[in-house]
Amino acid sequence: MLDTHAHIDFPEFDADRDQVVERMQQVGITNLIIPGVSPAHWAKQLAVAAQYQHYFALGIHPWFIPKECKKALTDLREQVELAKGNHRFVAIGECGLDKRHSENWDRQVAVFESQLILAKEVNLPVIVHSVKAHTEIIALLKRHNLSRGGVIHAFSGSPETAQEYLKLGFKLGIGGLIMNPNAKKLLKTIAELPLNSFLLETDSPSMTPINVAETRNQPANAVLFLDKMATLQKKSSVLISEHLVLNAVQLFNL
Ligand SMILES: [Zn+2]
Repeated sequence: MLDTHAHIDFPEFDADRDQVVERMQQVGITNLIIPGVSPAHWAKQLAVAAQYQHYFALGIHPWFIPKECKKALTDLREQVELAKGNHRFVAIGECGLDKRHSENWDRQVAVFESQLILAKEVNLPVIVHSVKAHTEIIALLKRHNLSRGGVIHAFSGSPETAQEYLKLGFKLGIGGLIMNPNAKKLLKTIAELPLNSFLLETDSPSMTPINVAETRNQPANAVLFLDKMATLQKKSSVLISEHLVLNAVQLFNL
């Protein structure tokens, strides 16, 4: 199994990263994808990815857009150029739009759009952060029509919204929210859509599921989400995990 979205480079894991990776391997998760978030984070992110042979993406997250966003985008292009030959470099992102942090909205749109253009140029999928911005994101994805598509990470929307993304060649990242019985729209989406629509992810250390005692989320928790998905889809966990691995392998060309 794979955790397709884990910020294992974040300081929350500095004290016990070895043990977190070990625990994840013990439950059958063999690898993960570390998304990029900003120029200030890339060096450590790449060092952690190299140390554990994890996959990685390069990008600028809407929460971490530097004031000098033009320079950040130039830096991103340079970093992408350097990483190009590396088989563990699998996507552009995490990038996107977040209306809960709308104080830098204009910069968010400009930086997201530049990353879509870059993804198309280098022929990679994108890892998209979409919070209360599906309309704007769908419009931009239609405009740029990415050949490799991507994933809408931490998807929480309805089957109708999900279908819009599937039509654009995107998959839906399913994480900790699946454990919340009040996430009715999401649970309906997971029960109704075909298995090739989904990717498994945790977004560690964020998005800790409600039934887990530790406040920090971690990649090993992905197996809980997998079992819940199996219940919702009325299929075996083995079958679900086979599909989810295949979806990740195909999308990211692993
Ligand atoms: Zn993330």
